[in-house]
Amino acid sequence: MITPPATLGMLGGGQLGRFFVVAARELGYRTWVLDPDPLSPAGAIADRHLVAAYDDAAALDELGRGCAAVTTEFENVPAATLAELATRTVVHPSARAVSLCQDRVAEKTFLRDHGFATAPFVPVPGGDVTDDLFPGLLKTARFGYDGKGQVAVDRRDDLEAAVESHGGADAILERKVPLDLELSVVLARGADGEVRAFPPAENVHVNGILDTSIVPAAVDDALRDAAVDLATAVATALEYVGTLAVELFVSEGRLLVNELAPRPHNSGHATLDACATDQFEQQLRALCGLPLGDPSAHSASVMVNLLGDVWPERGEPDWASLLAVPNLRLHLYGKAEARRGRKMGHFTVVARDRAAAVAAAEAARAAFSG
Ligand code: AMP
Repeated sequence: MITPPATLGMLGGGQLGRFFVVAARELGYRTWVLDPDPLSPAGAIADRHLVAAYDDAAALDELGRGCAAVTTEFENVPAATLAELATRTVVHPSARAVSLCQDRVAEKTFLRDHGFATAPFVPVPGGDVTDDLFPGLLKTARFGYDGKGQVAVDRRDDLEAAVESHGGADAILERKVPLDLELSVVLARGADGEVRAFPPAENVHVNGILDTSIVPAAVDDALRDAAVDLATAVATALEYVGTLAVELFVSEGRLLVNELAPRPHNSGHATLDACATDQFEQQLRALCGLPLGDPSAHSASVMVNLLGDVWPERGEPDWASLLAVPNLRLHLYGKAEARRGRKMGHFTVVARDRAAAVAAAEAARAAFSG
C-alpha cells in the first residue's frame, strides 16, 4: 500500500491528469507530471512538472526514481515507456493493457476473442471485406479519438478512396450499426481483482465529440446491470488495474463494445459532483493499493462539455450566467488558448432525479452565452 505523503507520477498533463493531481493533493500525496507541453493543465498545479517527451530516457529515469507509483491519463503514451517505468516503480495500468487500447485492431480482436460483442469489423488491410460491412466506417487503428481518423464508407467502391484519405494507415472497417443510445461504464479495478463500477452514463455526441453525459441513463434496470457486468468482464479479462472506461452502443436492444479507454473518461466527470468517490480518486486508490471507494451516485447528474467553440472572439464566456444556476458546478481546465473542438472545461448539474437534472442543464445551456 502506498500512502500519503508519497510522490505519485502522472504521464500526461491534460485535464484528466489535472483532476488526478487535485485528488492526490486532497489526500496529501505529492505529484509529478511528465508532459512535453510547458503550459499543460496538470503540470501547472503539480509539485513538479517534467517538461520532456514521453520517451525521454533521463526524464523517465527521474520519474521512476522519484515516484512511488506512476499512472497515465492518456492512451497514446508509448507502451515502451510504461514497460520501462515498471522495471523501477509501481505502474498501473500495465503496458500490455494500454498498448491494447492504443490500437483498434488489437482492441477489437481482443474483445472478439474473449466473446464480447462488437459491431462487425475487419482489419484493413488484411481482412476479408464482406458486403455486410457496408455502409461502414473506416477508423484508423491508432491515434483516433473523438471521431478523428474516421471516414464514412457507404459503398465498397468508396473504400479505396477512404483508405487513401488515411494515407493507407492501418485501420478497421466497421459496419455502421443503428444506435438506440450510447452508454459508458467507468469502473475501477484493484490489483486484487475487486471491481467497483460507477452508474452507466448515457452519452450524446456532437460531431463525434462527447457533448453531454446523463446519469442515470434512460435504460431499464436489466440493461443497466448488463452494461455493468459486461464492463466488469472486460476489465477482468484485461487483468486491468486502475480506472477504465468501456464505451458501449445499445443497438436494437443489444450491447456492443465500441471502445476502451485505459484511464478516467470525459463521460465520468460527473462522478466529481454526484458520487461519494470520483473516478480520479478511484484511479489513485487502485494505483496505490488502497481500498476502492463507494461509486454509487447520491444525485442524478448531467455533464455538459465546454469546447473552445463557445468562446467569444475576444475575452471569456459569461461565466456568471452559469454560476448563477443552483446545483451547478463549473470546472475549467486552465487552458490558455480556446480552439474549436478543444475541451476547455465542463459543467455538471446535479438534481434529485434525471428529469430535473436534464431540465436544469438545458436551462443552464440556454442561459449561457459564449
Ligand atoms: P469512436 O471514435 O469509435 O468512439 O466513434 C465516435 C462516435 O461515432 C461514436 O460515439 C458513435 O456515435 C459513432 N460511431 C462509431 N462507430 C460506429 C458504428 N460502428 N456505428 C454507428 N455509429 C458509430
